[in-house]
Amino acid sequence: MSAEAPSAAPAAAAPVGAPAAARLPAICLRCGGEKLGALVPCRACGFVPQGPERAVAWLFSAHHLSPDELALAGERVRAGEEPDPSRALREQARAAMGAAPAIEAATEPLTRGQKVWILLANLLLTTFAGYAVWFGLRGTRPRAAREALLLTVPVSALSLALWLAEQLREAFS
Ligand SMILES: [Zn+2]
Repeated sequence: MSAEAPSAAPAAAAPVGAPAAARLPAICLRCGGEKLGALVPCRACGFVPQGPERAVAWLFSAHHLSPDELALAGERVRAGEEPDPSRALREQARAAMGAAPAIEAATEPLTRGQKVWILLANLLLTTFAGYAVWFGLRGTRPRAAREALLLTVPVSALSLALWLAEQLREAFS
């Protein structure tokens, strides 16, 4: 793979919003220089892969190429070839970078079983269980985290109300 004919291919539509991949050796798509991390700025030319270039940059890294292939890819870019991997390879890169799953996970709701589990834990154990689930999910799965909170706050409020009623009953008895 690596560099082929100058690019006339349409840019892939889906954004690549993955967190930066681990910093493995990579080749700058513009100058062919070596760098550490496919998505970081190139020290030699300052190029930063944007949008669909990010998937291409991932393909031009040790995530996808052996050290020999990386060196060859660097030579070909330096010789003026423009990186133009196939659509299939770009899709493969996007999948490997985890972009699609990350975007889907953000809106993925809790399953019925998970909701039952949270509710039971809140009722039978402590509402810290529900808050712990909310806290753990709030960064990556905001929708699921919100659902966990909705199952937890009312139970908290109810527990507090019962506790207060008990205190009042004892105070006035
Ligand atoms: Zn560069």
